[in-house]
Amino acid sequence: MRTSIQRSITEKLRDAIAVDAAKAAAAGSRLAGNQGTSLPGKTAMAVSPDILAPLAGQVRRKIIAVCGTNGKTTTNNILCTMLEAEGRKVVCNRLGSNMPAGIASAFINAAHPGGHLDADYACLEVDEASARLVFSHVKPDYLILTNLFRDQLDRYGEIDITMDLLKTAIRMVPEMKLIINADDPLSVSLAEETGNPFVCYGINTPAGHAIEETLRTGEVREGRFCRKCGALLQYDFYQYGQMGKYRCPVCGFKRPDPVYAASDVVLSEKLHFLAEGLPVETDLKGLYSVYNLLAVWSFLREEGCRLLFPDADNAVITGAGPRIRPDTTRFNEILSHYHAQFGRNETFCIDGRDVVLNLAKNPTGFNQNIEAMLEDSRPKRLVIVINDNSADGKDVSWLWDVDFDRIRDQSIRAVTVSGIRALDMCLRLKYDGIEADLADTPEAAIEKHLREGSEKLYVLVNYTALFSIHQYLQERTRK
Ligand SMILES: [Zn+2]
Repeated sequence: MRTSIQRSITEKLRDAIAVDAAKAAAAGSRLAGNQGTSLPGKTAMAVSPDILAPLAGQVRRKIIAVCGTNGKTTTNNILCTMLEAEGRKVVCNRLGSNMPAGIASAFINAAHPGGHLDADYACLEVDEASARLVFSHVKPDYLILTNLFRDQLDRYGEIDITMDLLKTAIRMVPEMKLIINADDPLSVSLAEETGNPFVCYGINTPAGHAIEETLRTGEVREGRFCRKCGALLQYDFYQYGQMGKYRCPVCGFKRPDPVYAASDVVLSEKLHFLAEGLPVETDLKGLYSVYNLLAVWSFLREEGCRLLFPDADNAVITGAGPRIRPDTTRFNEILSHYHAQFGRNETFCIDGRDVVLNLAKNPTGFNQNIEAMLEDSRPKRLVIVINDNSADGKDVSWLWDVDFDRIRDQSIRAVTVSGIRALDMCLRLKYDGIEADLADTPEAAIEKHLREGSEKLYVLVNYTALFSIHQYLQERTRK
């Protein structure tokens, strides 16, 4: 049980009014047909600016924040799904509205009128640049850091700025335990610099295209220099990006041995790997999914969640008794029912055809999405939509850091490009010898491919294109 927040009677009254006003605003917004994922939070914060504190203070067990460049939404949603499958009540910003107002909205949606919250856990995806603001109200018990890659340049600045923002935020909650990807030297150095307690997960054996990846020169590897001394890190192997098994030849900084390790990754129609030597199988795609699942696994292990220990008594799983091995049967079963949400490898069935929607908003994300798409060797079509609204970043130079040469693959029958920066995208593809059509709107691009072929259609979009295309595909599914 967390320490409850001390509020005066006036403050309590104000909190109650804030929650009720926010609920009314949300209901009004829904009637008007808007999703309004951050509207309730904005409304409540206008009435009671620190409303997040008394709401989060009511969470009975643990608050988990999920940060990192890629994989936040998926990791957070799978974690929430696992905890709910344990019969727990969970507050979660599932749609990835990850700034303070979006997080407040998640709490308000879960709260009863008047502000009473009945929740065991809160799983909160938190925007790295907003973490400081969020942690001044909410004190998470755990922070899962998925990875650190360069993201939208003009929004976050270079990766150093993001890391400094995160470091300041993490130090505000010194007892918060970090769950860190051992394979990412940037995450590990950040964890070491904060002084917070941390535990690592990682993949111990090279997976998928790791060997070939190690030889590639075009790949963006932001983190290949040692953060401590500036020397070039040496790698036994890369998984992707700067992730892999590294060490610094000068100062001795190296990949820590993960407490929660995966091995024997097989990327095919289904994804297989061993987590702590136990079999995990899922329909999720891509090597990045192994990392997302390992992050979830690490929390479940840290927390001694029953779903990994169906036959054990409490004393055993909390470490008081003889240690027993977890069991992945239930974990796999819950995963088999998990459906990717909101443009994270989300599949729609339209006119009998599979359409896969994927968010790809930075070079590493894009490379991983291409990789996951090519794991499926069947013929396919591809639509790419690139916008440059402020939430996307005005600077689209990052497109030059994506390995588009990989989509010159035989299985890809046709490519169409759309969005505000369709011309930049088309030019980018031309440099890799890929001919693409232009479509006036993303919808026209999708319809063209549905009309012209029966192959599976992949739609890769950046951030602001996601919402409208997601809605369009949902409506097309219902037709
Ligand atoms: Zn070094």
